[in-house]
Amino acid sequence: NGFLKLGLAPELMQAIQDLGFTQPTPVQEQAIPMALPGEGDASFIDLMVSSQTGSGKTAAFLLPVLHTLLQQRAAAQAEERAEFERLAAEAAAKGEALPKRPRRKDPTNPRHFTAATPGALVLCPTRELAQQVAHDAIDLVKHCKGLRIANVVGGMPYQMQIARLQNADLVVATPGRLLDLQRSMQIKLEQVQFLVVDEADRMLDLGFADDLAEINQLTAKRHQTMMFSATFAPRIQQLATRVMREPRKIQI
Ligand code: AMP
Repeated sequence: NGFLKLGLAPELMQAIQDLGFTQPTPVQEQAIPMALPGEGDASFIDLMVSSQTGSGKTAAFLLPVLHTLLQQRAAAQAEERAEFERLAAEAAAKGEALPKRPRRKDPTNPRHFTAATPGALVLCPTRELAQQVAHDAIDLVKHCKGLRIANVVGGMPYQMQIARLQNADLVVATPGRLLDLQRSMQIKLEQVQFLVVDEADRMLDLGFADDLAEINQLTAKRHQTMMFSATFAPRIQQLATRVMREPRKIQI
């Protein structure tokens, strides 16, 4: 399988195999290694990619983001386990009862709802595209225990989206509805590490420039931005200068 050389997590490789992908497409082959963190220093590079629908661009941004989220989750869980074992050893030495494992909140109980704090955000110009991208993400996390995907788009029942948003790691959204939820404090964007702007040219055509500027500010502490667009027209270049730091360009 041509994906092996990309060094993706086994859970993702399993999903790739289930989907029947045997070779990365050109955009995947170029973007995935660049988007993954640098070895040792865990630094990220911003990417500006020109590619068309049908090129496999969705997996080109989803796979590296999901890979890094998985790695972070594994590290956090190992730390949690080590801390529990340390407390358990301490309790045993003192002849006390074992500590209780911390309870997790129930994501389906509205009384436990708190603002969602996703680590990754994908912005799409239309509801249809956002739903397609979320669908692709759900396929890719099939074997990733506990990685959650949520879809935030206009014209869907509010309550249902808020329930799904609880504990979401990756949110796929249209800008307008995302900012509605941000203003009503259903979602906080401070912890977004990875921001993807999909179909940036259509985003501007549809008048989302101001929303993008606001989301850019709200996610100012992020580690990486990837922008995908059919063209690198001057207005796209301008947007890129505003939302990215020295982006590498990939032209397919
Ligand atoms: P996209 O350009 O992201 O809209 O993807 C176009 C289609 O190609 C989607 O149906 C994907 O499921 C499919 N696809 C993406 N990557 C691959 C791959 N490496 N091999 C085969 N099909 C793929």
